[in-house]
Amino acid sequence: MHHRADALWFHRARPDTFGMRAAPRFAMDFHVITLFPEMFESPFGGGMIGRAIEQGIIVLHVHALRPYGLGKYRQVDDAPYGGGSGMVMRPEPLAAAIDAVAEEHPGVWKVLMTPQGEVFDQAIAREFSARPGAILLIAGRYEGIDERVRAMVDQEISIGDYVLSGGELAAMVVIEATGRLLAGVLGNPESLKEESFGERTLEYPHYTRPEEFRGMRVPEVLLSGDHGKIRAWREAEARRRTARRRPDLLERRKF
Ligand code: SAM
Repeated sequence: MHHRADALWFHRARPDTFGMRAAPRFAMDFHVITLFPEMFESPFGGGMIGRAIEQGIIVLHVHALRPYGLGKYRQVDDAPYGGGSGMVMRPEPLAAAIDAVAEEHPGVWKVLMTPQGEVFDQAIAREFSARPGAILLIAGRYEGIDERVRAMVDQEISIGDYVLSGGELAAMVVIEATGRLLAGVLGNPESLKEESFGERTLEYPHYTRPEEFRGMRVPEVLLSGDHGKIRAWREAEARRRTARRRPDLLERRKF
């Protein structure tokens, strides 16, 4: 018998003020299933995402997997059938945790974090931010999870072609990239229009004061006050920079 209160851990920066906040325009629930819930405390304690959590625009539910473990020791892993190194996460604790979240949020979109998944990018972040319901991110550990858990999820996501020791950092990347696209999270939503990957290009270069730094001057056009010229320069720089650094993005734009 699992005690839900043990398994659920709601991260809110200032729970005492939670009920008093101004009603957000849009709120999104992220759930995470993890063996290491404490990893989520500090990264989302501050910055834009921390503020969004405080304002209730993002509601982060971190579910500890351990209470769903089996037996006296709450076992969550076991040796692989067929032999081999490392341990594999058993399906029953993960299934019980996934079911508990689905019961709380029917229709929750279940995403398994795995290096074998679809590679996460800005387009997927945009898709996630437009989803009407909650998103559940399942973080694996050890050698990975029992293959049968894959039948329980809607999507598998990788954050890149490298192997992390756990899915927690990957889940945080997804929450950060998706969360900042929600209405009300960014101070200036205009900045979303121009930033990298918006039009499948990298963003143009930025400059601030001083006008000259170690012999390098701010491009004259940015000091001209001519907004038409500035826009044209920025568009050209964005294209030039993308062609040089990430030609694959321009290629993909053609499709
Ligand atoms: N043996 C697995 C394989 O080769 O595919 C890797 C397991 S990895 C050590 C443990 C967990 O970290 C995975 O179950 C997954 O949740 C997470 N993980 C590792 N790399 C990841 C990546 N690039 N993207 C998303 N999750 C990742």
